[in-house]
Amino acid sequence: MKIHPKLADKLYRDFKQFWPEVDGREYRPGLDIGSGWFPLLYFTLRRASEICDGQNLTIKINYIKEKYGGLAIEFDTLSDSDELMGLFELAEEESYKICDACGRAGKLVQRGRWCMTRCSDHHSDNVIFSREVMDLLNQHQGFVCNLKDKVSLKILKCTK
Ligand SMILES: [Zn+2]
Repeated sequence: MKIHPKLADKLYRDFKQFWPEVDGREYRPGLDIGSGWFPLLYFTLRRASEICDGQNLTIKINYIKEKYGGLAIEFDTLSDSDELMGLFELAEEESYKICDACGRAGKLVQRGRWCMTRCSDHHSDNVIFSREVMDLLNQHQGFVCNLKDKVSLKILKCTK
């Protein structure tokens, strides 16, 4: 599953603090998830930036990917934060309930050796971008607000 480039751009733009320049050159972490997880990831990163600001913490995200059907965020940091770890664990937990193709309720399914989290409409591999996600993207105004009700309150309010 590849996230839609417009959604990837929005993440790269809005969360620059997590991928600082390396030797003066723009650095972008790998982003290997489906568009359906965009709302979950967006609000997870937004909460993460609040936690980092509050704790004066700097992290560098190396990759964001789907691993065994769940959302995995790998990062480097000089000091540990239980709150941040808790947030990313919660995001992984939540991802097992969301179809990575369309963002609707999903569950973990297995196809051969591969696991993925999908709704009943998207059991197969061959999924194009979700209509729903793209519609939201096209309504520029209030884009993020519209996504908010798609993310569990646990993510929005995550505190340890
Ligand atoms: Zn789906």
